[in-house]
Amino acid sequence: MPHYQPPLRDMHFVLDELLDLNAELAQLPAHAGLDATTVHQVLEEGGKFAAERLFPLNQTGDREGCQYDAATRSVTTPRGFRDAYQQYVAAGWPSLACDPAYGGQGLPVALNNAFYEMLNAANQAWTMYPGLSHGAYECLHAHGSEAQKQLYLPRLVSGEWTGTMCLTEAHCGTDLGLLRTRAEPQPDGSYRLTGNKIFISAGEHDMAANIVHLVLARLPDAPSGTRVISLFVVPKFLPDAQGEPGERNAIGCGAIEHKMGIHGNATCQINLDGATGWLIGEPHRGLNAMFVMMNAARLGVGMQSLGLTEVAYQNALAYARERAQGRSLSGTKASSAPADPIIVHPDVRRMLMTARAYAEGGRAFTSYVALMIDRELNHPDDSVRREAADEVALLTPIVKAFLTDNAWIATSEALQVFGGHGYIAEWGMEQYVRDARINMIYEGTNTIQSLDLLGRKVLMDQGEKLRRFGEKIRHFIVAQSADPAMAEFITPLADLAEKLVKLTAEIGGKAAADPEEMGAAAVPYLRVAGHLVYAYFFARMAKLSLTRAAGGDPFYQAKLATARFYFARLLPETAMLIRQARSGAASLMAMDFS
Ligand SMILES: Cc1cc2nc3c(=O)[nH]c(=O)nc-3n(C[C@H](O)[C@H](O)[C@H](O)COP(=O)(O)OP(=O)(O)OC[C@H]3O[C@@H](n4cnc5c(N)ncnc54)[C@H](O)[C@@H]3O)c2cc1C
Repeated sequence: MPHYQPPLRDMHFVLDELLDLNAELAQLPAHAGLDATTVHQVLEEGGKFAAERLFPLNQTGDREGCQYDAATRSVTTPRGFRDAYQQYVAAGWPSLACDPAYGGQGLPVALNNAFYEMLNAANQAWTMYPGLSHGAYECLHAHGSEAQKQLYLPRLVSGEWTGTMCLTEAHCGTDLGLLRTRAEPQPDGSYRLTGNKIFISAGEHDMAANIVHLVLARLPDAPSGTRVISLFVVPKFLPDAQGEPGERNAIGCGAIEHKMGIHGNATCQINLDGATGWLIGEPHRGLNAMFVMMNAARLGVGMQSLGLTEVAYQNALAYARERAQGRSLSGTKASSAPADPIIVHPDVRRMLMTARAYAEGGRAFTSYVALMIDRELNHPDDSVRREAADEVALLTPIVKAFLTDNAWIATSEALQVFGGHGYIAEWGMEQYVRDARINMIYEGTNTIQSLDLLGRKVLMDQGEKLRRFGEKIRHFIVAQSADPAMAEFITPLADLAEKLVKLTAEIGGKAAADPEEMGAAAVPYLRVAGHLVYAYFFARMAKLSLTRAAGGDPFYQAKLATARFYFARLLPETAMLIRQARSGAASLMAMDFS
């Protein structure tokens, strides 16, 4: 049977020792009264909820899946999901990082993020219900009218109602400019929405009293293209004068998808048959408003993948310690047993260490990005807020694509540790691989993230955001250059930083002459950038661990071992990636597929 232990010690290391959470929070008036001890208490409780309440529902939820009843157009979630959600709501978890003006607890994004890692590790399919609600909360909070905020936010914050994001249509996924859902203005200021959405996560379920759909649609006078799409709030039940769920709105679930993973989450076809909705923000600026939700969701998808990486690693490690096959190449290790545990074999250790390094690197990186979001939202100095926003914009596609690609690798390696037992359902490992696969697709495929990074965030900006983040890396390298113990980390970090600068300039030059060159280089480019970021955080973690390992705490020895593995075994992938990125568009475009 699989197990899950919240990685609280590593979270403390990252938040307190690596990122100095107390000092960060002290700079932010909204969080100045909060200290790391409180953060740890919340994480400890959150970890218990994840491990004890959600984790036992993960395999059963996967097996049962969601059931659709065509007669009532209703969806029943797997046994236990609804009760767990009610307990989640009763404990106030949905409100953790929400605005106190709407009933939230006003805690930092960095805390919520760590909490979500644990929820996702325990049960990604379940976590998508509150996860999407939080995204809807953020979008309405940023772009809703005061009346919309007063009506919807307290109910999303409490978890009484859940939210969705309705973008995709059958003919329109990546290219939202093709969408056809129409919104006709009504004399009372509302809109009548007609169209069909597909693949809407948490689009229908039995867990909450109402569902707040955020729907992208086109106004009658809008020409085609993405710049003229508008965003609407379309509740499943129209709120009555008291704000309680009233009349059923003409929006409903026409079917649910049968799919590879996340079976416990309902992926719905949503039909709008003249549904009543209200415009969010300005007409034709819907995509802009939706970007708030999409950016939050991209970090959220990174956290899904981090959670899966961690839980898959933990289970593979436990199995590798127990499973006895063969003898160690360097001589018997378990002489009283007929065979040694497979953890003695170098390649089993490679698989374990790969998952472990991607979990620890991912945790450091995403915690940093979450703290940058806290700065962006709450720092009193405008210029610090802007700088943080730029960094978040630069790093978000890397969080989304690099972590999700790594989780696919890590869960697959963790499955491999189990041999054939990984492939059968009993041990739960094949579920992690299946669940991890969607993360590379939704919220903008990883290709689209790569194009966003290289095209919009780097080249269109003349490399400015990248240069500023690079300055942080350079300062660290300079500060460590006198420490011989750091050379093993600093030398490859500096080397990769220099290579990325050259690679960026080379692709920029080629792309100016032929835009296909940008498209051809983007995916390996993002992976190189991801490795640079991980190398930077592993070097920083190694620095701390070198100093602290002397105290005899095995945690720091282990951290150093992981950092060394990362530099020796994972970072070298960049040599190949750089060659791929430099190889240009010709070999991709030459084939005449006709
Ligand atoms: C389980 C599940 C849950 C989902 N949840 C939601 C949800 O809650 N709300 C919602 O609105 N949507 C949701 N989606 C939809 C998801 O976001 C889309 O599937 C995704 O955006 C890709 O769109 P598509 O499937 O139409 O693929 P397409 O856009 O047709 O892409 C097909 C392939 O072509 C590539 N491609 C497309 N355009 C380009 C380009 N310009 N340059 C380079 N490559 C390109 C893509 O990367 C991809 O590999 C969900 C999907 C699934 C499967």
